[in-house]
Amino acid sequence: MIKPYQVKNFLISLFWHIYSGYPKASKEQILYRFGICRTCEFFDTKNNQCLQCGCFVNDRKIFMNKLAWGDQQCPINKWDKINTIS
Ligand code: SF4
Repeated sequence: MIKPYQVKNFLISLFWHIYSGYPKASKEQILYRFGICRTCEFFDTKNNQCLQCGCFVNDRKIFMNKLAWGDQQCPINKWDKINTIS
């Protein structure tokens, strides 16, 4: 069940994602991030969810995956935003 703090965090993240121009992560970048999440003490393996921010994290290149958004970063700095400016 989705909790109110998850909705709040998602809406804030969505605002910044749109504001940033929808930067996307590549499949390789998603897999790199997911490799870190999978070994993290805050990763809920049952629901593929981060217990710090409540976001869904997985290895798929889909919209509802925090790892697929280039502008996102780990709430405890285990992985960073992707520099999309070349
Ligand atoms: S986003 Fe960060 S805190 Fe959350 S599960 Fe991944 S590594 Fe852990």
